[in-house]
Amino acid sequence: MTIAGMVKSSLVDYPGLISCVLFVPGCNYNCFYCHNRPIISGAQEKISLEYIYSFLESRIDLLDAVVVSGGEPTLQNDLIDFLTQLKEYGFKLKLDTNGSNPHVVSEILEKRLCDYFAVDYKAPLSKYSEIAGNQAAGENVLKTISLLMEHEAAFEVRTTVYPQLCENDLIQMAKELPCVPRYVLNRYRKPEEYLPCDEERISAVPYTQNQIQEMADKVRQFQPNVVA
Ligand code: SF4
Repeated sequence: MTIAGMVKSSLVDYPGLISCVLFVPGCNYNCFYCHNRPIISGAQEKISLEYIYSFLESRIDLLDAVVVSGGEPTLQNDLIDFLTQLKEYGFKLKLDTNGSNPHVVSEILEKRLCDYFAVDYKAPLSKYSEIAGNQAAGENVLKTISLLMEHEAAFEVRTTVYPQLCENDLIQMAKELPCVPRYVLNRYRKPEEYLPCDEERISAVPYTQNQIQEMADKVRQFQPNVVA
């Protein structure tokens, strides 16, 4: 298991709990608006597992949860063993995933390793690879979400409302998804690092929070649990 970043204490990454957030390097997607480009490129210095374990052991009474984020954690071969170890410390566990590896999420669900999941749904199916690159397929993400529904897992689906995503796109996405327990629309922020070829779409004017709220109101008829 490789860890390339760590937030020792967060109040916002696990709903209602104090968590430590661990960032895994590498990703099979290449979203133009990615905020973790140094992490997905693998350029970031790694943090030893010994340090992670010793830090978490020392915080057993102070932290409620550990969030494994990325990059894309489901690409790590020993993710299951790592989650098993973290579970033994007694922490609640949350997995942030782009949803591209339903078979890994299925194993996590079978073994009851995670208490909460956040899955990104990035674009309508017809535009998925245009936004997430690398021949990303939204069908796999929908399969991951179906598995979470079947297992009655606690989870949320998140969409970053980047400037190119119009209201009709969001409505289309809301129709493609099953009715999920929580659907979060996040405001787009320009990333500090991005690919030069993406300069134009990165620099487009973002929606205001009011505009996103208005979109959420339209989406609500298909996703009643939408929040913005
Ligand atoms: S899935 Fe997440 S980590 Fe991967 S490129 Fe997209 S935004 Fe970045």
